[in-house]
Amino acid sequence: MSINIEPLRKILELEHKKGYVDSAVIGGLDRFLRNWAGQATESITSPQLLSCFYKLHLVNLNYASLTKQQRKEWVNNALHLLAETERREEEKGKAKPTPLVGKLSPGPRRPSVVAKQSIDSPITIIRGISSSLAAKFNRLGVKTVRDLLYFFPHRHLDYSQTKSISQLSEREDQTIIANVWQAQETMLGGRRGTEAIVGDETGNVRVVWFNQPYLAKKLTTNTRVVLSGKVSLFGGRHVFESPEWELIEDRELIHTGRLVPLYPLTQGLRPRQVRKLMKAVIDQWAGQLEDFLPHEVKRHCNLLELPQAISQAHYPEAEEIKDRARVRLAFDELFILQLGVLSKKRDWQEGQPGSPFTAETSGLDAFLKSLPFQLTPAQQRVLEELLTDLQKPRPMSRLLQGEVGSGKTVVATSALLVAAANGYQGAFMAPTEILAEQHFATICQLLSRAGHQEDGEDYLHTYSGLLSHPLTVALLIGDISQVKKQELQQRILDGDIDIVIGTHALIQKGVEFHRLGLAVVDEQHRFGVTQRSALRQKGGNPHILVMTATPIPRTLALTLYGDLDLSVIDQLPPGRQIVKTKWLKPGQRDSAYAFLRRQVASGGQAFIICPFVEESEIIEAKAAVAEYQRLSQEVFPDLRLGLLHGRMPAVEKDKVMHRFRSGELDILVSTPVVEVGIDVPNATVMLVESADRFGLSQLHQFRGRVGRGQEQSYCMLLAQNPSEVGRQRLDIIERIQDGFQLAEEDLKLRGPGEFFGTRQSGLPDLRMAKLSDVALLEMARSEAIRLFEKDPGLDKPEHRPLARELARFWQKGAEWS
Ligand code: ADP
Ligand code: MG
Repeated sequence: MSINIEPLRKILELEHKKGYVDSAVIGGLDRFLRNWAGQATESITSPQLLSCFYKLHLVNLNYASLTKQQRKEWVNNALHLLAETERREEEKGKAKPTPLVGKLSPGPRRPSVVAKQSIDSPITIIRGISSSLAAKFNRLGVKTVRDLLYFFPHRHLDYSQTKSISQLSEREDQTIIANVWQAQETMLGGRRGTEAIVGDETGNVRVVWFNQPYLAKKLTTNTRVVLSGKVSLFGGRHVFESPEWELIEDRELIHTGRLVPLYPLTQGLRPRQVRKLMKAVIDQWAGQLEDFLPHEVKRHCNLLELPQAISQAHYPEAEEIKDRARVRLAFDELFILQLGVLSKKRDWQEGQPGSPFTAETSGLDAFLKSLPFQLTPAQQRVLEELLTDLQKPRPMSRLLQGEVGSGKTVVATSALLVAAANGYQGAFMAPTEILAEQHFATICQLLSRAGHQEDGEDYLHTYSGLLSHPLTVALLIGDISQVKKQELQQRILDGDIDIVIGTHALIQKGVEFHRLGLAVVDEQHRFGVTQRSALRQKGGNPHILVMTATPIPRTLALTLYGDLDLSVIDQLPPGRQIVKTKWLKPGQRDSAYAFLRRQVASGGQAFIICPFVEESEIIEAKAAVAEYQRLSQEVFPDLRLGLLHGRMPAVEKDKVMHRFRSGELDILVSTPVVEVGIDVPNATVMLVESADRFGLSQLHQFRGRVGRGQEQSYCMLLAQNPSEVGRQRLDIIERIQDGFQLAEEDLKLRGPGEFFGTRQSGLPDLRMAKLSDVALLEMARSEAIRLFEKDPGLDKPEHRPLARELARFWQKGAEWS
């Protein structure tokens, strides 16, 4: 470990011994901490320790103003975290150096110095929850009482419509209150069940339950029951089939006669059991939840109190209040998310200085002049934004959005060139090896117009005449022989290579740089917050440029990626055309093939995306091989077909791509995993199998592979048996070309938290927030900004509960990534 935490521990132990009266150190703990932490954090290299310190608020703690109980909690917490961190450091010392990514997660847990039975106690403290039942809840991610309170039903059944028996009608959910006349066990469809006759003053109705023979004993004659469910007609008479039932007793109804929650279940959890338990837990514990939202925010946004919101989210009295409960809980998620993102950005930008570059370089000018085209105004604007950032002493942290084909690569290459001209290294990371190879090829091609290419190897090119020193560009991927790889890594470490192109493994596999100045990351959605922080820890505080072709609506981008500044290339290079898109019926497959054949006959090329196979890449590859054989033997025996799938050795993939690009192949058959991110202007047709299985953004990506040349291009979508949502997607992609508009539509189709891998991105789970709810997003964001401006460290006493909630929420996020 690079820093000694012993003095801190000693002081804290003393403070503990003296009974938390702030007498352990002269001048008070706050002053000591500020001094100590200030010096210490400078020498900390371990991300763990840093995040531990961050959690403890070492630098901005206000110990003096805490109550004794709070002090006690804090000191114990701190000691616990220190011990935990030390233990981890020791383990790490023993183990080999491990990659940074994933190590930030899961942070040390809050120790249980809190009272014996608290809202953070394990659920076994609840009467009726045995350890085996608890294990089942654990499987659903529910461990503590708090988790239970936040274990929301996925929906409610509306059993609130009470009717008399004579008013019953088919097909809708309805509730009756009736007298049991008789009930008996009976055989129904070969199984034991229960049959009953119940009645009220308007008439009688028959009720059957399949598989529940024990009910007969409970429904003794003359008991009063509430039944909720649907009735059907049977021999001209109404019959209730397996309705929810409940005896009328003094207590509140929980299964019938109201909005009844349906909880996510796992093996061994029964709906009635869970409902009963949840009701008890909410009644007992919801009131004890600390409402962490400042009053002002609640008032300003007209939000429910937290305990009320929690109980109404489970057992709502009516639809309207259920909606208000959701709004409050969704607001919490977005608000906390936003606060976290804002503070991450602040930490990152104000924490350590970056490396300011000089943007004015003759190299960049020469490069731009050598391009076979003019930058579009949008590209120019974005390049200016980047250059402005790069000249600042604060590290750049920018998200660049631009449609497929909008020309992000040229802009990124310009920035990399600036880094190299300033004597820094640049890294360019792609999500897959194929894309890394392609970027390498593209970048080298761009550079070779401006510079003079010296003899190079397949994965290493050097250009002279562009910068004051020869510019070296390397490709580092898994495919290269071990010896070569080591040689490359050594040269990267020596600072001998200016630009390294590879996959995200570049940071994950511990490649060491001599002087990393700029990291470009292609494809945002696979590169989350955690990876970004890992990159930042990589030393030297590199500038970071994240690029994505997935258009994200602005509000959403600000919320989810609020730690990044936003640039948008909102304009395609001239001459780009609309790709005619058509959703075909299964019967139109042959005419699709015929169309494809005509396109090839007139000189075009085509992509065929194989059906999506869920199981695994291996099975998918097999299916692709079969499809390729079928197509090349039965459908297009006279054409030249190539196959691309994820299990092929990279050399093979490369060969196939090369042949396709150079026109030696007519049709490229590919699995979706490969996400043919290749630029082939001559390709005019894209045929996507099981198109209904893909998300809109993915379909849009596929489509972006054609229409890059002068010829009119087409995208044909085949779907066997699309679901409702599948149909909607196909309909949308057929109508809409614009990526941003598509993203908006995509958002509307999705449920809470589902927007393209918010999970993968290492962000906390959103359970209640619908990201399509722009108004709420904006409200949460503006409230968060307001609060953050007033009290960025959440140090004010009235914000302390909020700070705790923030820590809790983000810690959870880290556990997933
Ligand atoms: P993206 O990475 O945004 O999908 P690329 O950078 O791969 O897009 O660019 C797509 C194609 O457009 C490339 O062939 C590139 O050379 C070309 N291109 C980029 N900028 C321009 C421009 N301003 N004018 C014409 N063609 C351009
Ligand atoms: Mg690209």
